[in-house]
Amino acid sequence: MTRVRRVLAPNPGPFTLEGTNTWVIGDRPSIVIDPGPDDPGHLLSVVDEGEPVGAILLTHRHPDHAPGAARLAEATAAPVYAFRPEGDERPIRHNQVLEVGGASVRAVHTPGHTADHLAFFLEEDRALFTGDAVLGRGTSVVDPPDGDMIAYLHSLNEMRGLGPRTIYPGHGPAVFDAVAKLDQYAAHRLRREEQVIEALAGGKGTAAEMVPGIYGEEVTGPMQPVAARSVLAHLLKLEREGKVARSGAVDHFVLVEQKPCARCGRLAAPRSRYCRQCSMDMLQEGPRRGEETGPAVR
Ligand SMILES: [Zn+2]
Ligand SMILES: [Zn+2]
Repeated sequence: MTRVRRVLAPNPGPFTLEGTNTWVIGDRPSIVIDPGPDDPGHLLSVVDEGEPVGAILLTHRHPDHAPGAARLAEATAAPVYAFRPEGDERPIRHNQVLEVGGASVRAVHTPGHTADHLAFFLEEDRALFTGDAVLGRGTSVVDPPDGDMIAYLHSLNEMRGLGPRTIYPGHGPAVFDAVAKLDQYAAHRLRREEQVIEALAGGKGTAAEMVPGIYGEEVTGPMQPVAARSVLAHLLKLEREGKVARSGAVDHFVLVEQKPCARCGRLAAPRSRYCRQCSMDMLQEGPRRGEETGPAVR
């Protein structure tokens, strides 16, 4: 087993739980994931734990994860890797494997929380470092437009496909049943989507209107606008899938009524008389007798 240590950054808050987890993997040299905020005391603890450091990896550029990278790189002379590098940082791509001090870490592009989000998979131990894509407690924030619910659900699936055993999240405690956690996260999002559809069916049109009914007592005061962003992320997903449309105002949504296909009776595609399959078939067949619209020439 590769040694994994957590150094907790002193930035607790409603989004960061106890603070940001800076993960130190392996020895001589070690890998550091997410140096956290630019806090000299915290970075000193990271150096103490990780020296010598061989590589610094960023899950994404949010201010609770990335700003410490420059100071840590200066103190350790280790390169910084990011999906969207800045300055002297190096790029790291989806599926790229870094070998450092006997550990192999695979970068996994996991957009959804942010477009540039990476998870890191420590292959020999099936340990997944999830940044803000999966937290040790509670749920991840998906805030459009950088946050994207379709991409997020795809990323949950991608992470599950790795067959991870342990999750080391960006915030909160480590999770020792990784697949169950990923399933729970996906089920939570599907449940939320159902609640959004129910709210639309009940006549609610904007994300803000839907929050009290969906979240109830769970979310109050300053967290309400955050919950509304998450509901909006679901609405934008449903809009792209053709299940909802905007009506009147830009932030007002309605369910798109779905009718049976006029040809086969299955559910028709949104705003169409036919299902997708029949539309395709008819395009390939060309107009059939009786469906011709122009004057018949005999
Ligand atoms: Zn974040
Ligand atoms: Zn975070």
